Amino acid sequence: MNREDKKEVDLSVVIPVYSEELVIDELYNRLSRVASKIASNYELIFVNDGSKDNSLASLIRLARNDNKVYFINFSRNFGHQIAVTAGLDLCCGKTIVIIDGDLQDPPELIEEMFAKYKEGFEVVYARRTERNGESWFKKITAKLFYRILRKSTNIEIPIDTGDFRLIDKRVADYLKLMPEQNKFLRGQIAWLGFRQTHVLFTREKRKFGKSGYSVTQMLRFAMDGITGFSDKPLSLVTRSGFFISFLSFIIILYAIYSHYFLNRTITGWTSLIISSMFVGGIQLISIGIIGEYISRINKNVINRPLYIIESTNIKSSIQVLK
Ligand code: UDP
Ligand code: MG
Repeated sequence: MNREDKKEVDLSVVIPVYSEELVIDELYNRLSRVASKIASNYELIFVNDGSKDNSLASLIRLARNDNKVYFINFSRNFGHQIAVTAGLDLCCGKTIVIIDGDLQDPPELIEEMFAKYKEGFEVVYARRTERNGESWFKKITAKLFYRILRKSTNIEIPIDTGDFRLIDKRVADYLKLMPEQNKFLRGQIAWLGFRQTHVLFTREKRKFGKSGYSVTQMLRFAMDGITGFSDKPLSLVTRSGFFISFLSFIIILYAIYSHYFLNRTITGWTSLIISSMFVGGIQLISIGIIGEYISRINKNVINRPLYIIESTNIKSSIQVLK
């Protein structure tokens, strides 16, 4: 079966996969069980994001045996957010669930999400009450990040929430109208509004493999979240500029006063070097912050395709391949 002989389905599940060979079968079984309880008409869309193991072979095997399974195989690793974006672009469900492919997000929770959806919510996100088995470093940085983000933006980005969520087709359609290259889907969905609610769950630790996010990638992701939704860092730069100028003006006044009225000229290499290093540091940080925004503009101006599909069993995406 392909996209042309199939119209809308009731439920699409989008699953980004990066080297998850060892869990794919269990994932497939649990997802199929839950999805078939909710809708007879569903599809599972796996996006293979340049896996280094045999995930692709497993996905092709599943797709061969089950016509509800689709795979999108990227030409290389494009990153989690882009993998989800591709799934959203090519799915055709009336409701769409985004779920991680490492079973850290329990598929069974989808039933609970669907019940909320039936109550009339367009977005039902899964909120973590606990994170089992993750390093204290990840827990602390994640907690800090969500709180900074909340403080620095005007939109309500829910805390302790990843991309595990159920969204209505309309939300996904509007998401497609947001063409930014640096994706921060959870922020974008919050920005869109609609009626949103959450269900709670405990995030289990990874059974196999390790997180595909390195510390650098996590920082990058955090930067995308902040620069995409807030101009506060820029106004902070301006304000600190004003503050330091004001401070140095006071010091100048004091130096003149001291020279003419106290007959004491301030000397000192130490104070000079400290103050110039301080100001130098602030300047470099400021240039860096401005650079972050410029690089964002740059990426959006170049406007490359977000991902390259090497192969897929979704027929309607063939034009992308040619
Ligand atoms: N993932 C991906 N591309 C990547 C990194 C991760 O598609 O470059 C997938 C991964 O297979 C998993 C999900 O995105 O299904 C979340 O990734 P991960 O578990 O590494 O993130 P964490 O749970 O540590 O935040
Ligand atoms: Mg994970």
